Amino acid sequence: MAGTGTRAIILGTAQDGGFPQPGCKLPCCQRARSVEGISRTPVALGIVGSDGSSHIIEVGRHIGEQLEIWDKAVGFEWPLSSASLTHAHLGHTDGLRLLGREAIGSHGIILHCSKSMLSLIDENPTWRILVEQGVLVPKQWEGMVPFEPTPGCGFTITPIPVIHRAELSDNHAILVSGGESRLLFMPDQDSWEATLEGATIRDWLTSLDVDYALIDGTFWDSSELSGRDMSEIPHPTVCESIELLGKKESGDPDIAFFHLNHTNPLNDRDSEEFLTIGRMGWRVGEPGEVYDLG
Ligand SMILES: [Zn+2]
Ligand SMILES: [Zn+2]
Repeated sequence: MAGTGTRAIILGTAQDGGFPQPGCKLPCCQRARSVEGISRTPVALGIVGSDGSSHIIEVGRHIGEQLEIWDKAVGFEWPLSSASLTHAHLGHTDGLRLLGREAIGSHGIILHCSKSMLSLIDENPTWRILVEQGVLVPKQWEGMVPFEPTPGCGFTITPIPVIHRAELSDNHAILVSGGESRLLFMPDQDSWEATLEGATIRDWLTSLDVDYALIDGTFWDSSELSGRDMSEIPHPTVCESIELLGKKESGDPDIAFFHLNHTNPLNDRDSEEFLTIGRMGWRVGEPGEVYDLG
């Protein structure tokens, strides 16, 4: 596969609980269980470097299904050379142990993440053993400092610090820069206010030179979780994001929402909400989509 440029593949688009979410008996998840092809696994991105090497962002419990999506889209080649983790929350890390001896039995996967994520791995015996057994080879990144996940892979990753409830670890968005184009992977953030520090979304994406942006679309609006305190799980709603963005203008990056909660009406392609964002020029990210980054 060498010589084709770097390609990124969307492997999952759901919030950490998945769609359907375990135990949910609301119409959202009953529908996801009965209609074929609409269930979704938590967010993850596959990247094939220009040298043919394989890299993943987030290692969730559905990595098996996700590798099948990857294989169907562009062909998946073992070994997995590197994995990068944005933060410690459930769906972003709960597949790490599948890489170990009890399952896949990998060896030497370079694990890129922040200092706080690495100390959590070190404090957690069920993760630390993966390092001790050589399954994972941890490498600490520094915010805003681009690096090649493995030498000669043909693309860089730039971790961008993004505020998101930090009970376990800090959080980063990840900018993937190929030879020609750049993709932003930003599944979680607390608020645009904290992320943008006074800039507009457009200014911020322009400053990062982003061509494609996968952004936090967890909730459609604040009425979505009746009975739960939304301040416990802060995210900007899609309504808020599209109000800040307005309609797509020429020169704007391609913006797709992902990390959708099971309750989000954007999970239904026939919903008024889905049609609304489409009319504005925005969209929902879909598993299997391939981005040619050159
Ligand atoms: Zn998440
Ligand atoms: Zn549901």
